[in-house]
Amino acid sequence: MADREYNVILLGAPGAGKGTQAKMLAAQLSAPHISTGDILRGAVADGTELGQTAKGYMDCGELVPDDLVIAIARERLAQSDCETGFVLDGFPRTVEQAEALGEMLDDLGREPLIVVNLTVDEDEIVRRLSGRRLCNGDCGGIYHVDQEDIESGAACPAEGCDGQLYQRSDDQAEAIRERLDVYKRQTQPLIDYYGQRGVLVNVPGEGEPQSIAGRVLQAVRG
Ligand code: AMP
Repeated sequence: MADREYNVILLGAPGAGKGTQAKMLAAQLSAPHISTGDILRGAVADGTELGQTAKGYMDCGELVPDDLVIAIARERLAQSDCETGFVLDGFPRTVEQAEALGEMLDDLGREPLIVVNLTVDEDEIVRRLSGRRLCNGDCGGIYHVDQEDIESGAACPAEGCDGQLYQRSDDQAEAIRERLDVYKRQTQPLIDYYGQRGVLVNVPGEGEPQSIAGRVLQAVRG
């Protein structure tokens, strides 16, 4: 059980480790992990209207339009499991989304906001993304081809998981380049946006996931 309300945003380039860290932090804080990327991939897999619209943007590494993503976040944050806090992963990604989020949190009476910016060198980002393999099963595990027996089509190594590993379509070289470019143009300005509001903490995102998780938790707890 969390000792107080933690409303956390994880910022960082694609491949900075937001998904891995958000999952670990959410477990530590007993708060829901909200990934707009996961919600969108779910919509694509289910073939919904939202999914069909989003797929074209996602496959080439572009951002899904703000109004669609803002509506997703608004609906998710209004659910009762967010009343005692949340860990946002991949939202906001533009200043317009950050402004919309600010209004949502005001409406819901949620404060304070803590923004953790995971910093990782660009070469390392490219290495991580191009070698990343995900589990399509319930564990949702994130692996890297540098690890033993990790490749597309292999069985998920997590105990009790019957999922199979795959590569995200947007983890191909061209989409990675586009995503990094989009990140620099549209998402990096959020570092200043939240920095000016005094809620940003930079956390080095290199090293073992467990030690990064320790730094993230320390940053969040202040
Ligand atoms: P992620 O799993 O966070 O890397 O997101 C994968 C893709 O989903 C992104 O490259 C975008 O196409 C889309 N996406 C996820 N979150 C957002 C967002 N907040 N705004 C716009 N597009 C998003």
